[in-house]
Amino acid sequence: MLIEKYFTPQWKTTGAKVINMNNTINILGIESSCDDTAAAVIQNGKLLSNIIANQSIHQNYGGVVPELASRAHQQNIIPVVDQALKLAGIKKNELSAIAFTRGPGLMGSLLVGNSFSKTFALGLNIPLIEVNHMQAHILAHFIQTPELPKSLIIKSETDMDFMSVQQLEFNNNGNTDAAIEILKSYKLGTNSPKFPFLCLTVSGGHTQIVIVKDFFEMKVLGETIDDAAGEAFDKAAKILGLPYPGGPLIDKYAKEGNPKAFVFTRPKVSELNYSFSGLKTAFINFITNETAKNPNFIELNKADICASIQYTIIDILMKKLILAAKQYSINQIAIAGGVSANSELRATINILAKQLGWDIYIPKIEYCTDNAAMIAITGYFKYLKKDFTNQAITPSPRYGLC
Ligand code: ADP
Ligand code: MG
Repeated sequence: MLIEKYFTPQWKTTGAKVINMNNTINILGIESSCDDTAAAVIQNGKLLSNIIANQSIHQNYGGVVPELASRAHQQNIIPVVDQALKLAGIKKNELSAIAFTRGPGLMGSLLVGNSFSKTFALGLNIPLIEVNHMQAHILAHFIQTPELPKSLIIKSETDMDFMSVQQLEFNNNGNTDAAIEILKSYKLGTNSPKFPFLCLTVSGGHTQIVIVKDFFEMKVLGETIDDAAGEAFDKAAKILGLPYPGGPLIDKYAKEGNPKAFVFTRPKVSELNYSFSGLKTAFINFITNETAKNPNFIELNKADICASIQYTIIDILMKKLILAAKQYSINQIAIAGGVSANSELRATINILAKQLGWDIYIPKIEYCTDNAAMIAITGYFKYLKKDFTNQAITPSPRYGLC
């Protein structure tokens, strides 16, 4: 209580800073829940910049090492924010609020984004907005983005592994003015789901079917009782000797394979819930048995193995999604989260849409995996509601959706 009172920033009591003179709302979004350090600027709902620093260090370990992730966030966060602001053409003092991921995620990783955001907001005396990462994955469907020409590439010469979405790499020393002008002049694409809609959120840590009645009225209808779909991809990849994260590699090799080459049993889970740990065990046993018979089994059958496990995971995901759509009589169907970048999942849901009369909403690849644009858009909607938090806020590693 004391802390809350002591740190309540001026805007909270006076409201002076909340009202922007020319009605321009600039939100800086910060994402640091797992192994991507990201920052984005959204102006009145439109994305101006979106910078991600990937942490390649985890590749050697077959999964994210929390301690290494925290350290990398600490190292990356200032340059990433700096680049996001520069690319957006926004000065620090033009920011209306700072939105950050409060959870769910890794405690050490969340702490970095949390501490940075609190300090920055306090220093600028602007509102602070806490964001639920899972909610943000869903609200990514409402980001308005400028369409960029493929040719707009400014080469990065930094030693950090920066990936700015929309194939746009930004160089500290480069000419950003041109980039900013082009960014601003491109038409905005808005094709967002209509409420109520169902969202299948599939990521490295979560698998959920959510009914979304409004921006902040969401309910989890079903979720995994053990492993997440992304985890199933990553663990299968690990067994095949592929580096982390394995999902994109399975996607790649599966393109050349036969999805029906190997059959894996499906889990039996009640209602709209999922389970992937049995599939993982079945997959380990299958690979162990086959490589005992033929040590070159994986090499000889890599494409078919990847196609078959991918087909099984997608089939499991789709069966429950179809069930949910029927039960709730909803034909507005969205997907979100890292696994929704999977090409076969995207193709399958397109086919289902035609068969079942669904209107489907598939995010751009760059808004599927973790990014700060989704944090900034959620922050923008919260800003409109004046839903602010204060300096007493702490990370919530197991932050529930509702
Ligand atoms: P989290 O929020 O849990 O950190 P993300 O939303 O960033 O996760 O998603 C990361 C997960 O998405 C990883 O498990 C990764 O393997 C998976 N993934 C990313 N791209 C693909 C793809 N093309 N196919 C399958 N899985 C993918
Ligand atoms: Mg995520």
